[in-house]
Amino acid sequence: MKVTDHFRNANGKTLFTFEILPPLKGENLHTLYNHIDPLMEFNPPFIDVTYHREEYIYKQRENGLLEKRSTRKRPGTVGICAALQGHYKVDTVPHLICGGFNKEETENALIDLHFLGIDNVLVLRGDCVKSEARFVPEPGGHHYATELIDQVVNMNNGVYLDDEQANTNGTNFCIGVAGYPEKHFEAPNLRSDLRWLKRKIELGADYIVTQMFFDNQKYFDFVNLCREEGIDVPIIPGLKPLTTKTQLSLLPSLFHIDIPCDLADAVEACADNKAAAQVGVEWAIKQSKELMEFGVPCLHYYSMGKSGSVRKVAEALF
Ligand code: FAD
Repeated sequence: MKVTDHFRNANGKTLFTFEILPPLKGENLHTLYNHIDPLMEFNPPFIDVTYHREEYIYKQRENGLLEKRSTRKRPGTVGICAALQGHYKVDTVPHLICGGFNKEETENALIDLHFLGIDNVLVLRGDCVKSEARFVPEPGGHHYATELIDQVVNMNNGVYLDDEQANTNGTNFCIGVAGYPEKHFEAPNLRSDLRWLKRKIELGADYIVTQMFFDNQKYFDFVNLCREEGIDVPIIPGLKPLTTKTQLSLLPSLFHIDIPCDLADAVEACADNKAAAQVGVEWAIKQSKELMEFGVPCLHYYSMGKSGSVRKVAEALF
């Protein structure tokens, strides 16, 4: 079922959903089930599965020279989505990125998803390769999420890459996109970022999931600005319970977000990570309660490979 149909069927009740990362190469599905099992009693209607593109590593050869190799540390997004749908009878939302794909590979990936009975995709440009300073599209690939949305919408309308005209067997994907309450780090300003977000909706995206934020006011302001721009689709808040002291600097550097003083001070004052995680859970519960009162259709948690804190938050709310 489509994500937007889940929102409609919820009749105003706030849903609980979460995002997982594929396990590291070499781990098996049971690692993932052990991570997901504790969260299933809160009835998530869908689970997001991230996509991780290739990165470059250097291996030392016997002669001492370094060999540059391309590897994907967390492959398996599509297979995991199909496995979760079968195992838990839950919908999945694979993340679909521009990076590393040309248009034909994207088309084939979407055909696979369609045949696997996956009805949703979160369409993203994707991060740049770790060793590169900026995003470089694949030859014959897409530069921005807008172009990738266009391709998915064409396929929904039965228009495949080499077709002269639409054929009747189109796909039927519900399309989510990313939004940034604290601005995407490359955008010159928030207004410009919002205009591109609006373009993503005009092209056919059905809903927005936000980057994580720790200050609800940033989300409320973002929603107001979106509505002023005429963006009228659901805007799903993305939340992450902070779990370690190092995340105080790690999360801002990775995701270009602020951590409010009150939270940062409370975490700094913790003797260890166990205490820091407890502060993180309490903060996330407070944020979630306020967002529920605001009437958000869904609270979406970034589990980032650890379900313990997300479970504690869910226990307090759902
Ligand atoms: P875009 O919407 O393409 O925007 C990129 C930048 O270009 C922005 O600054 C925007 O203002 C500007 N812009 C947009 N369209 C145009 C245009 N047509 N012309 C000119 N400028 C434009 N990354 C992964 O690799 N894998 C994942 O699974 C993943 N999941 C994510 C889930 C969520 C909810 C979020 C918020 C992010 C996720 N990311 C993921 C990170 C994301 O890929 C990066 O933030 C990336 O840098 C931007 O992706 P985007 O889809 O927002 O890009």
